[in-house]
Amino acid sequence: MTTPLLQVENLKMHFPVKGGLFNRARAKNYAVDGVDLTINAGETLGLVGESGCGKSTLGRCITRLYRPTEGAIYFKGTDLAQLSSRQLLPYRQNVQMIFQDPMESLNARHTVGELLEEPFIIHDIGNRQSRQKSVAGLLDTVGLPARSATRYPFEFSGGQRQRIGIARALALKPELVICDEPVSALDVSIQSQILNLLMDLQREFNLAYLFIAHDLAVVKHISDRVAIMYLGKISEQASSASIYEAPQHPYTRSLISAIPNPDPHIRVQRIPLQGDVPSPISPPPGCSFHTRCPEAIKRCATALPQLIPTGDQHWAACHLLDAQT
Ligand code: SF4
Repeated sequence: MTTPLLQVENLKMHFPVKGGLFNRARAKNYAVDGVDLTINAGETLGLVGESGCGKSTLGRCITRLYRPTEGAIYFKGTDLAQLSSRQLLPYRQNVQMIFQDPMESLNARHTVGELLEEPFIIHDIGNRQSRQKSVAGLLDTVGLPARSATRYPFEFSGGQRQRIGIARALALKPELVICDEPVSALDVSIQSQILNLLMDLQREFNLAYLFIAHDLAVVKHISDRVAIMYLGKISEQASSASIYEAPQHPYTRSLISAIPNPDPHIRVQRIPLQGDVPSPISPPPGCSFHTRCPEAIKRCATALPQLIPTGDQHWAACHLLDAQT
């Protein structure tokens, strides 16, 4: 069996919630609460859930922007928790992030050329001449003209800025890219251009993606496998085809029912959910989805369902499945 590129085991990220006169920790935000997942070289894992479910926090733990509270992150079999800051440096080259708002990662006071050259300078790669050649190559790779190097990020449209963000993420030839809602802020027509670019780059450079999104429609065509996240936990995980054709979890069924059908003659029965995602500071006991689940039974309010296999490479965490397996 080949070692996965990335393996996450029982990952937890609990933030202290401080307050009061002495700003002491009074509670915990259980943003990520025991996640297991794997990503193989060259594949895309879509990670889907509503705002506040912990998916971006999970992405930031994997890039080590956050130090997880508990759990393990193996990259090509090496446990990152055992590495010193210096030993983490090659990992930081190998795992990059694309943000929803590229301006978050692009310093508006620098030209695009300076921004794209910066990763090479930080990692002490090449000389001025070779770095400028690499910058020109990156711009070409993401479909921007060479003259973009002398302009500033604010001079570009949202889609062009995302191309700059992608170019910067690719500068150090990573093997894994965490794409944190990279098309959510873009017009629909631009979204498909960026998705196509990401898929072309994946084929060209054998990239693996963790593609984070808040709706299943966006990840449908780009993902090999899909994981659904709810309140810090994975509720279902399967191949892309299996998730869309045979969703096992009521939350997944609701998300799928919300995908607009391009054929106006096909009526899709929406499965609406009550209310918003509960606070991760005080997640409901038992199945944390039970306060909104249209199929909840009595034990859902007290017993935590475990992820169980429901088919070929398909897992879901729901008490309704316990009796069937
Ligand atoms: Fe709904 Fe219960 Fe299944 Fe949770 S365990 S998804 S509340 S039926």
